[in-house]
Amino acid sequence: MVSYKELGLVNTKEMFAKAVKGGYAIPAFNFNTMEQMQAIVQAAVETKSPVIMQVSKGARKYANPTILRYMAQGAVEYAKELGCANPQIVLHLDHGDSFETCKSCIDSGFSSVMIDGSHFSFEENIKLTKEVVDYAHQHDVTVEAELGVLAGVEDEVSAAESHYTKPEEVIEFATKTGCDSLAISIGTSHGAYKFTREQCTVDPETGKLVPPPLAFDILEAIEQKLPGFPIVLHGSSSVPQDEVDTINKFGGKLPDAVGIPESQLRKAAKSAVCKINIDSDSRLAMTAAIRKHFAEKPGDFDPRQYLTPARENMKKMYIHKIIEVLGSNDKL
Ligand SMILES: [Zn+2]
Repeated sequence: MVSYKELGLVNTKEMFAKAVKGGYAIPAFNFNTMEQMQAIVQAAVETKSPVIMQVSKGARKYANPTILRYMAQGAVEYAKELGCANPQIVLHLDHGDSFETCKSCIDSGFSSVMIDGSHFSFEENIKLTKEVVDYAHQHDVTVEAELGVLAGVEDEVSAAESHYTKPEEVIEFATKTGCDSLAISIGTSHGAYKFTREQCTVDPETGKLVPPPLAFDILEAIEQKLPGFPIVLHGSSSVPQDEVDTINKFGGKLPDAVGIPESQLRKAAKSAVCKINIDSDSRLAMTAAIRKHFAEKPGDFDPRQYLTPARENMKKMYIHKIIEVLGSNDKL
């Protein structure tokens, strides 16, 4: 049993309370590789932002859970080395699918876990979530739960259709489970293809797809039921068109990739939404930089040559999100 406190990590409790009060949101960036971890820490330190580094089931399979845990420990030490005296870094399990997975993460040094029982019935979701909360709280680990279903594909989480969260269910759910934050479904979606052409309108000037707006009426209804309760948005990448264009220009093929407009996320960050998950944008930033590098310098074969611009491009994206979208800068 390793406590996250020994690793210098923090849970989300104080972080979320401050974010809800201050009208901003904490970035939750997924990571799988050393370059992503370095870019996240550099961006958080330079902007003086708290940050959630999250690990999906796919990341655990790709990188190995033990390595990821040591990388998070390394992230804390790296932040200090970069000059941050008191880094606020959370190691979070994204979409935990069972009590056992959550427990193994808690036991190995995670400071926060998500238990995703959204595909179960309301009663079964409550039962599973409460089981995880009871164990997590014994170790001062915070728990994110989910009500409502997001469409799209994220690692091994996928659903064809979204089901918006029902505001009338949130009080009973939060009270009975004791969860610390709640992921809701108001129209965000996993992956780089969040909406079909049919769901979008077309901008007559650029010909680009314009996605449907988020259901802010549902968010407001939930906030009224649970005033000040930390709300989480998954699937909140914006799928920047310049990165998609770069990928397509240099041999990629991402037709009609579309995300959530940053203006919508900025509005959400000012509400009770205090954690915004961003994964696809990091993948796009990395891929765009690598494709461009290979096209311009076909003779390069040292991974450091193409992973350096990839890391720089991700860092630029993380800083942009922190300052221009979430507003979590200058909070340390
Ligand atoms: Zn998610």
